Order: sequence, then structure tokens, then C-alpha cells
Amino acid sequence: MDFLPVFMNVRRQPCLVVGAGDVASRKIQMLLKADADVIVVANEVCEVVEKLVNDKKVTLIHRKFDSKDIEGKRLIISATNDVNVNQQVSQLANASSIPVNVVDAPDLCSFIVPSIIDRSPVVVAVSSGGSSPVLARLLRARLETMIPATYGRLAQLVEGFRNKVKEKFSTTLERRRFWEIILQGPVTELMFAGQEPQAKRVLEEAITKGDALIEGQGEVYLVGAGPGDPDLLTFRALRLLQQADVVVYDRLVSEPILEMARKDADRIYVGKKKSDHAVPQDGINEILVKLAKQGKRVLRLKGGDPFIFGRGGEEIERLMEEGISFQVVPGITAAAGCASYSGIPLTHRDYAQSVVFATGHLKDNSINLNWPALARSNQTIVFYMGLTGLKIICEKLVEHGLDKNTAVALVEKGTTVDQKVHVGTLETLPLEIDQLTISPPTLIIVGNVVTLHEKLAWFHPELQGS
Ligand code: SAH
Repeated sequence: MDFLPVFMNVRRQPCLVVGAGDVASRKIQMLLKADADVIVVANEVCEVVEKLVNDKKVTLIHRKFDSKDIEGKRLIISATNDVNVNQQVSQLANASSIPVNVVDAPDLCSFIVPSIIDRSPVVVAVSSGGSSPVLARLLRARLETMIPATYGRLAQLVEGFRNKVKEKFSTTLERRRFWEIILQGPVTELMFAGQEPQAKRVLEEAITKGDALIEGQGEVYLVGAGPGDPDLLTFRALRLLQQADVVVYDRLVSEPILEMARKDADRIYVGKKKSDHAVPQDGINEILVKLAKQGKRVLRLKGGDPFIFGRGGEEIERLMEEGISFQVVPGITAAAGCASYSGIPLTHRDYAQSVVFATGHLKDNSINLNWPALARSNQTIVFYMGLTGLKIICEKLVEHGLDKNTAVALVEKGTTVDQKVHVGTLETLPLEIDQLTISPPTLIIVGNVVTLHEKLAWFHPELQGS
């Protein structure tokens, strides 16, 4: 180890920054976050620093660096583009045993500044010992995705209960065990889901009982898996996938996404195909309730977004009746995913000022929709589950006033490497459809925004690897 990692208290300590350009401004802001008294010495001052000076956040000495500037300082950062000045600052600081950092010059530094993930009071620092700041930054970015933004609040919660836990458990070992369980259990998950009052309540109960293992505290995560491309998962979906004990999933969830679940998690398929429900909705609701009551962390994984044609509402209604805690994680819905990946903006100033999501699902051979409301110009209509009803949909829209030349796209397996986009009009697409081999899922987009596809298509999976 070339450097000793330490976190230094600079609160209200005089810290000197030499230089006031863009790089210096970032260092100044970092020092300010740690509540340092920042003194800047520089001839030229960038806008950001100027504003900080005007706002009285930092003190500016508006001239060239002078050797006397280092006197009485707790820490010094030199961020000028004058090599001689940087060298001089480094020498003087070292001679006076003041920690010094010269930006991008590891040889002149007695300390280096790590890349940080700030979840104050939790701070994670990553350093490559000056060998590759870019590498440290990339690693930092990966960690950012893994550490929920509310980590800091979790730390604050723990801090607030430390004394109570100390009173309850007399040995360090007991306390450590308690916190280890709490920090990997429902209290933590409630905090991440923004349910702080409930988290507090559960923690208080656990302390009173003197047991971190809160029995019967199963929970359900209703998670949107997005339209197919695993890269479109949210950070939260990924994190929950990696901690759930059971994953209950349906047909639309792609294999690569399931692969991201914890390796030892149970998987339950409740796949739904149109008119062939592997498990009826009531059955799914009961499975969720049963598993949660066994104390399991159950992840209900749904294609797209759980609240858009996902029957997510029905599932949580049942959970609420049973008093089971749950959270809902939105996903990218098929309309957003397919539109982006096929270069069809759903709204556009010249073509459509509104967009409607509708179901094209047939009931008794007809589609009960408010056709006059749908068949409006300057509006994009997205039909989910519409392939079987495509002909009726096109017919009805024309019947209710849309021009038969209105553009229509059928997006097949959107966002995946098998994506295909078929474009036609309300008149032509129904005629062509029988000649095409189409595999579900498919989405129908109606409206003149579809004409932009030709120009804006950017995702060409068929060209990949060729
Ligand atoms: N909750 C989901 C929708 C479920 S309904 C969401 O928000 O996306 C199922 C319908 O979604 C399918 O019939 C199809 O119309 C559409 N769909 C889902 N994934 C799709 C994909 N990758 N490509 C095209 N359509 C998709």
C-alpha cells in the first residue's frame, strides 16, 4: 500500500487552494462539503469560484502565490497550470509538514484525493494510488450503482438508535449481531423504499423484543423488469433481484434478466399467455401472500412497468389486505422501450401533442374502447396486446375519422436483439400482416410520428456481429 487511507477532519480549518480555474473549483467545492475554511490564492478566477467568493463561501487573495500563503494552513491543494508554482507549493508545504496535493502530479503530493461515493455520513473512497485516476473513477461509477442513494439516511437511523441498542445488549458481540441482521433485513429495505416511519417502527419493535430476527416479516417487491434488454433494469430492480429469496415471474421476463437473480433464489413461473393463464391472477396473488407469510423476501417480476397493463394494482391490493409490506419498483414500459429503440418519438411538436396507451385485447371478438377519443389527429396511440385485434383496430380508427394513410408501426420483440419493426398505414398494414411471420410480444404504434422511424432508427440488432 503506497498511501495510508484516512479521513481527515478539516471542519473550520484553514485550507489553501492555489489556483481558481475549473479543476481548482472542483477541489474547493469538495473542501466546502467537508466544512473547511477555504482560502484561494489566484490571479485568474473562473466563474464558479467568483460566485463562491461573492457568496462569501471562500476567501480570495487575488494575486500570485506567495510563500507566506502556506503559513498556518491545515492542508494545501495546488491546482494551477504553472508547473513551477505547483513545484514551489509542494516544496514549501513539505518543508513545513503540511499535507499537500498537486493535481495530476503524484510525485509532488504528500496526499492524494480519492474518487468518492458520497452517502454522508457514509463515504466510500476509491484510489488507484495515483496510477490511474480514470480507473478509480470507473470503479467509483460501478459502486455508485450498487449503493442506494438513501444509504446516508440509513446510517443516520442507526446512529439515532445506537444508545438504545447499547442499553439492551451488553456485549459488543451481541450488538454487532443485532446490527448485522437489521442492516440486511426489512428495516433497511423499508429505508431504501422511502418508508422511514415504518422502518423506525420495525426497528423499535426489534429492540424492545431484543431480537433482530423479526418473525413473519416477509415482504414483496413488485418489480418492473422493463421491455427485454437487461440493461434497461433500474438499479433498485437489480439490487432487489440480488437479495430476494424467491422470484415469481411471468412470460415477458427475459432469461438474461432472470439470470441476475441470486443464484440460490427459488424461481416460480406463473407465465401468462393470452387466454392461457398458466396460473390465474387469484392464484398468483395467493402465491405471493403464502410466500411472504413464510417470512420470505418475494420478488414479483413483471415485464415492463407493473402498473401499466400489469395488474400490479390487484396484487398489492391483496397484500394490503393481509398487512404484508411491499414496495413497487417502476420499470420501462414497452411503449417507451419500443419507441426509443425503433426511433419513433411518441410525441413530437410537429406530429403529436399527446400519447395514449390502450389495450388491444379482444373480449368476445370485439375491443371495447372509446374509439372517438382515440381517433384524434395529433395524437399517438400505443396498443398493447393488439396483434390479434390489429385488423379491427385499424378499421375502427378509420371508421371514427383517422385518415387511412396514417402511419402504423408494429414493433416485434422491442429492445431485444430480435427486434423487428414493420411499418405501414392503417390501410396497408392489416393487408400485409398475414404474409409476415410475427412472434410476440408486439406493440402497435399509430400516428404520424411513425414516419420518423425511417430517419431516426438507430438500433439495428440485425447488423450486430455482421
Ligand atoms: N406491463 C407491461 C405490459 C404488459 S401487457 C409493460 O409495461 O410493458 C403485455 C403487452 O406488452 C404485450 O402484449 C405487448 O403488447 C407489450 N410488450 C411487452 N414487452 C414488449 C416488447 N419487448 N416488445 C413489444 N411489445 C411488448
